[in-house]
Amino acid sequence: MKPFLFVSDLDDTLVYRTVGDDNALPELNQLLSQHRQEYGTKIVYSTGRSPVLYKQLQAQKNILQPDALVLSVGTEIYLDGTDTPDSGWSEILSPGWQRETVLSITQKYRELVRQPDSEQRPFKVSFFLQQEVSARVIPQLEAELQKKYKLNVKLIYSSGIDLDIVPHSSDKGQAMQFLRRKWKFAAEQTVVCGDSGNDIALFAVGNERGIIVGNARKELLQWHNEYPFDYHYLAKSFCAGGIIEGLNYFGLL
Ligand SMILES: [Mg+2]
Repeated sequence: MKPFLFVSDLDDTLVYRTVGDDNALPELNQLLSQHRQEYGTKIVYSTGRSPVLYKQLQAQKNILQPDALVLSVGTEIYLDGTDTPDSGWSEILSPGWQRETVLSITQKYRELVRQPDSEQRPFKVSFFLQQEVSARVIPQLEAELQKKYKLNVKLIYSSGIDLDIVPHSSDKGQAMQFLRRKWKFAAEQTVVCGDSGNDIALFAVGNERGIIVGNARKELLQWHNEYPFDYHYLAKSFCAGGIIEGLNYFGLL
């Protein structure tokens, strides 16, 4: 058995929030922690959650201590349980990021509802945006930020409600590859798991192995239908059960 890099989203992927249950989570935890001990497998959680919301989840669910934590949709990387974001990653995100300009432009959009302060991060500005108006508002806002103001930003819309504006060089996929190169894992020895829109970056960035859990949301399933690759596996089971299914499918365990 070889070590592999395990990168998983949390809500409705590793742990149940809205669909499924956590019945398979203890087994997955056991398999991963044993693999880490015996072979040096690395465990990474990658989530849209801020540090505050991650700590809440940690208190509610029985999850492992990861080797690295990717928070705020890829804009912050924490290594080995530290509380300080990795400066190497922050340096990659800094050039051309103008947080204040993003804030002043977005103020004009009535449809954008600012998320709580805990979710506003150094490299992320976040809003709630209702799905019904998203198809109209997002292209308009994107054009204004990118074309008119020439800002080096990216818009990530997820779960039919969360709109994140982040530096262009940042998302879950690029954060995952930063760690993959740092720890020298081949793409074939890397597996990413997700359920929703902000996870598409994990699947689309390269040819890492991918597990789409059985309860995946429409936006990710649509993307998977459009871009089917044999290194992506659509699980039948939900959440942790789907992840176990996929790890077995790829022969990683
Ligand atoms: Mg999720």
